[in-house]
Amino acid sequence: MTDVKELLLSRIRDVPDYPKAGVMFKDITPLLADPTAFSALTDALAGLCVEHGATKIVGLEARGFILAAPVAVRAGIGFIPVRKAGKLPGATLSQAYELEYGQAEIEVHAEDLAAGDRVMVIDDVLATGGTAEASLQLIRRAGAEVAGLAVLMELGFLGGRPRLEPALKGAPLEAL
Ligand code: AMP
Repeated sequence: MTDVKELLLSRIRDVPDYPKAGVMFKDITPLLADPTAFSALTDALAGLCVEHGATKIVGLEARGFILAAPVAVRAGIGFIPVRKAGKLPGATLSQAYELEYGQAEIEVHAEDLAAGDRVMVIDDVLATGGTAEASLQLIRRAGAEVAGLAVLMELGFLGGRPRLEPALKGAPLEAL
């Protein structure tokens, strides 16, 4: 493992049975509180955005915002928020997706993405991949191209990567 990966891993706290029994919650707040680790993460994600030719960076609400915003500044690429339904004031495109119980919906400002954009999506944790999958569908419906999906952590046993294969259409999934 590289020094950066070791540093990042050492700053992620496992919280058992949160928010409910049986879930091992990956808490990134110790990483955010450590400027060396947060900066190393920002550099690594910004490097991936540049490497994959992104022209826009999408952050997924809420923890994806915390990571994607400094990455966008570092990479010199515009930041686009993808929010839970009802939070954006302008005209939006929406994408519904299934949760374990019920449905959720995410939105983006329609004017923020267009044909010719290459979009990198950033989030903290890839679990089942439901949220990421909906964001990729939203980006393509806006006419933009997917440059890739980059996450700090992938919980491989939840099967997010195979689930995302059709939506990625060959775009890279990078898990630090
Ligand atoms: P997903 O199942 O991939 O749609 O996960 C949705 C969101 O929930 C991700 O954006 C993560 O931020 C969060 N999440 C899911 N599982 C965990 C976990 N075990 N620890 C921390 N965050 C999680």
